[in-house]
Amino acid sequence: MIAAQNSVVLMDYTVKDDEGNMIDTSAGQEPLAFILGMGNIIPGLEKAFVGKQKGDAFVVRVKPEDGYGERDDSLIEIVPRAQFSGIKDLRVGMQLQAQTDEDMMVVTVVKLTDKEVTVDANHPLAGKILNFDVKVVEVRGATSEELNHGHVHGLGGHNH
Ligand code: ZN
Repeated sequence: MIAAQNSVVLMDYTVKDDEGNMIDTSAGQEPLAFILGMGNIIPGLEKAFVGKQKGDAFVVRVKPEDGYGERDDSLIEIVPRAQFSGIKDLRVGMQLQAQTDEDMMVVTVVKLTDKEVTVDANHPLAGKILNFDVKVVEVRGATSEELNHGHVHGLGGHNH
């Protein structure tokens, strides 16, 4: 089967930044499953699977605009340290969930002083070029339930 809109694709992947540093890999874990065209994964990677089939292996270079976006310095904020009094072992690099008016967002602690905490709400991979090494493990049709939910069930997907 050839992957097209609404195909379920299972892939093994490794992703590195432009300096060759490993960012993430599925090695040793279940393959990652997504429904093609549903936006389950970043657009630059998703579109590379159109027309591919089981066994295909290829490299995809994803620029920030097709990945996690460019970095936005306005998403860096300095907050009084007292607001973090409930958090033990606060340290640089720590990721925290922050409640905003609308929703939940993940911020990374980038700087700490006795009085202030600098947090960055950019996605940790924003602004990075991502080099994916992928292998197509399976291509199949999505069930109507999967299409309703907008995600894959079973291996590599949701179990619920
Ligand atoms: Zn579901």
